[in-house]
Amino acid sequence: MIETFKEFDATELYCPKCGRAVPVRKRLLLILPEGEEYEYLCSVCGTSVGTKLVRGTEQVQIVI
Ligand SMILES: [Zn+2]
Repeated sequence: MIETFKEFDATELYCPKCGRAVPVRKRLLLILPEGEEYEYLCSVCGTSVGTKLVRGTEQVQIVI
């Protein structure tokens, strides 16, 4: 399994209510043992357009 460590930070997402890609606001939704779940809200109408789990506490270990 190929895993990317590059953080994907969406600034625009498709909003079904607006019918187009809109700038989004990130909101902390839940703090889980495996990370923090963020919710993306449309900055125009406030509709939730997606969630994302950020494994913030997880350290990437590089073994040399
Ligand atoms: Zn919207």
